[in-house]
Amino acid sequence: MSKIVKIKRSGKDSLYASFLMMTLIPLFIFGLIVTSFISYIMRQSMEEQTKVELKSAAEAVLSSFDQSYPGDYNLMVYKKDQTLYKGDVALTDETLVMDNIKAVSGVDVSIYFANICMVTTIIDSEGERSINRTSADIITNDVVLGKTEKFYDNVEINRVPYFAYYKPIFSMDGKTCLGMIGVAKSKRGLTAMINSAIIKNFLIMIGFMIITGFIIVKFTSQIMDGIKKILEFLGEVSGNNLNAKLDETVQKRNDELGEIGQAAEKLQLSLRKLIERDALTSLYNRRAAEKKLDQLEAEGIKSSISIGDIDFFKKFNDSFGHECGDAVLREVAATLNEGMRGKGFVARWGGEEFLLVFEGIEEIAAGLFLTEILQSIRDHKVIYDGEEHAVTMTFGVTGRADDEKVNDQIRRADDKLYEGKKTGRNRVIV
Ligand code: GH3
Ligand code: MG
Ligand code: MG
Repeated sequence: MSKIVKIKRSGKDSLYASFLMMTLIPLFIFGLIVTSFISYIMRQSMEEQTKVELKSAAEAVLSSFDQSYPGDYNLMVYKKDQTLYKGDVALTDETLVMDNIKAVSGVDVSIYFANICMVTTIIDSEGERSINRTSADIITNDVVLGKTEKFYDNVEINRVPYFAYYKPIFSMDGKTCLGMIGVAKSKRGLTAMINSAIIKNFLIMIGFMIITGFIIVKFTSQIMDGIKKILEFLGEVSGNNLNAKLDETVQKRNDELGEIGQAAEKLQLSLRKLIERDALTSLYNRRAAEKKLDQLEAEGIKSSISIGDIDFFKKFNDSFGHECGDAVLREVAATLNEGMRGKGFVARWGGEEFLLVFEGIEEIAAGLFLTEILQSIRDHKVIYDGEEHAVTMTFGVTGRADDEKVNDQIRRADDKLYEGKKTGRNRVIV
């Protein structure tokens, strides 16, 4: 009985895990980079878009004020009250235009006299218009004193972060900067929008990773399955099961795994040849023949058995050298093998003795076949060193008697052979 040697992996390293690591980790890193990049681009473009939007809102408000209320901006102070006028209209009371802009676009508008907010659409926590607050120093410096319009990506008004665009307001003669207009958009809504876009992005990436992971797992398990089957096959072979069959799915693969499978099968074949075949004649050796006979016995196939022996073989060795003897053995073996094709098998039983097994064939028929085989031996002249050598053989053949052991059958065949040798050789004794 051949025992199966299980080839076990010794460590915790598995190719399967490596494959997953190799693909999912770069995918994850790539996903993170892409998501961060997309978030950055989105933030940038939204900021840019907001800037353009606020700038044109500021311009629109200013020009609509200029059209509706011609004249300069003026601050009238009466006791404690300060009122901002444009021409002869008190802007402090004329908030309708601003409120409409806010209602339509969500953009807050504030008019500053110098750096103090006089009119605004921004409502504070008490529900009042958030006036009389001063702008941040940097804005005052940039816009009022520096007389340049500017966008800020983070202005805090009443603790709320805003994107804001400030534009200086000049006197009619264009010489003096009287104050500024500020238009602002709360960052909260925008941030929420960007965040939801980023989350969507991230979810898409996770979904992509899961799908890729599935594909990788499927692909990897196919490869692992192939490797496992080759390992099992090699385990069988190394446990002496030289008839083990490699799984068909591996045989059919066209990739490197298929090649490894084929190499393993070749290895099996070479091993089988090494163990089962006789090196000189390539016929089955005695051990393999005995095994095959056991198999036939197990399958209940009754076979005729013959032992054949080359006549006066010694003379080839003695007269022409051992090499010549070897050549005769090789050619006789080939002729016997050819003659036995489709009838059973032939093995080298001893030095110049052969065992021929006629599978499932009766003694008489086997005898007739042997006569033909003997004739082809006689006809085939062995040429060695330019000289022709005729070879003859003597065969003893027996059928299988009921309840007879194979060894007894072989002994009887051997007896017949002996009889043939005694009665003149070059014959078949049935
Ligand atoms: P018989 O007709 O009675 O069978 O005579 P024989 O000469 O054939 O028989 P014998 O048993 O006396 O001689 C067999 C010889 O075969 C003896 C051995 O040296 C030789 N022999 C055995 N194996 C080999 C081999 O592998 N190569 C060669 N060249 N000779 C071998
Ligand atoms: Mg002989
Ligand atoms: Mg002999």
